[in-house]
Amino acid sequence: MQLESKELLEADQKFGTPLYAYHGERIVEQYHKLKDAFPGVNVRLHYAMKALSNVNVLKLLREQGSGLDAVSIQEVQLGLRAGYSPDQIMFTPNCVDFAEIQQAVELGVHINIDNISILEQFGHHYGASVPCCLRLNPHIMAGGHSHISVGHIDSKFGISIYQLRHVLRVAESHNIQVHGLHMHTGSDILDADVFLRGADLLFDAAAEFKDLQFMDFGSGFKVPYKEGDIVTDIQDTGRRISEAFQAFCERYGRELELWFEPGKFIVSESGVLLVSANVIKQTTSTVFVGVNSGQNHLIRPMFYDAFHRIENISNPSGTPRLYSVVGYICETDTLGYDRKLSEVREGDVLAIYNAGAYGMSMSNNYNARLRPAEVLYYKGQWQLIRRRETLEDLMRTEIEVEWT
Ligand SMILES: *Cc1c(COP(=O)(O)O)cnc(C)c1O
Repeated sequence: MQLESKELLEADQKFGTPLYAYHGERIVEQYHKLKDAFPGVNVRLHYAMKALSNVNVLKLLREQGSGLDAVSIQEVQLGLRAGYSPDQIMFTPNCVDFAEIQQAVELGVHINIDNISILEQFGHHYGASVPCCLRLNPHIMAGGHSHISVGHIDSKFGISIYQLRHVLRVAESHNIQVHGLHMHTGSDILDADVFLRGADLLFDAAAEFKDLQFMDFGSGFKVPYKEGDIVTDIQDTGRRISEAFQAFCERYGRELELWFEPGKFIVSESGVLLVSANVIKQTTSTVFVGVNSGQNHLIRPMFYDAFHRIENISNPSGTPRLYSVVGYICETDTLGYDRKLSEVREGDVLAIYNAGAYGMSMSNNYNARLRPAEVLYYKGQWQLIRRRETLEDLMRTEIEVEWT
């Protein structure tokens, strides 16, 4: 299930560019594909809302039975506003003030603790009265780009598995109820092996905690960005993790829940960024297509070296030619380097695929550019789900002062 040129051109007609367009049924499909991939275990998915946090997407996933993974108190609050119950929300912050954790406790969501000093404060404040989950770092390296590996030895995320003795002393002395263990080794895990190596370390650690209700294995499910990409074989991964988990539960003596926090897997492929070709610029070595968008709207190509497939949907039968697709920002914001596109004419609409995850949510107003509108295709029709920004939006928080 994918947005085809016909629907995308219709969206351009209705709403113009630049535009983030999402396919609702595709999001639903991805959710169930993952949920169903773990036979025989009690699996619970918490959508990592930082990937795409529009309230309509959150509601759509809530209707499917999803929970949420929130990384800031603001995400927690947005999740509650979207109708999630506190029990459906996992709060996994990193390097936040303890006051933010207290706020989350007051809201009643699950707390994931990723630092020993925070654990001590948590124990001091709540003792046995509020349970928590511990984010452990098993130091398993996920493949792919170094920025998105968060399990390595110098990572700022999680409590090192080597500090387990210290964790246990802190937990015991404050009588802290640990009801979950968590790991998130970063995006782009290629197959079950990486998961299982990390999982084994967590299973060993679990023997030390008697009150567990769940194990949370984070995310890292890979989706294809271009043809030939190696992706997570979700059926195979699911089956192998399920088997390992069932065996673990037997050893542990109780059936626990298996939690995951997928972001990219759920929304990446549902989203397309539609842009228009402003100028065609021939230089000595390259033909540039300059579009009415850039790293302000989609930063992944610059930030992660990410590849996003691009198509000229206005001229599908044009002669294929080689282009570099660049943005209008005063930076070298290349969205696609050396791409074969059917001949691009000024005014043509280009579709940039796999833009559902970390597209709009990482966008910004650099160069005082306005963020795109967002539209959702669901039940056969397009709906505007975020209006385009205006100049007033840009100035809304500014305070113009007079010096006397
Ligand atoms: C970002 C994040 C995720 C989601 O990662 P994806 O690669 O988008 O699936 C899950 N858990 C935590 C704690 C995260 O920070």
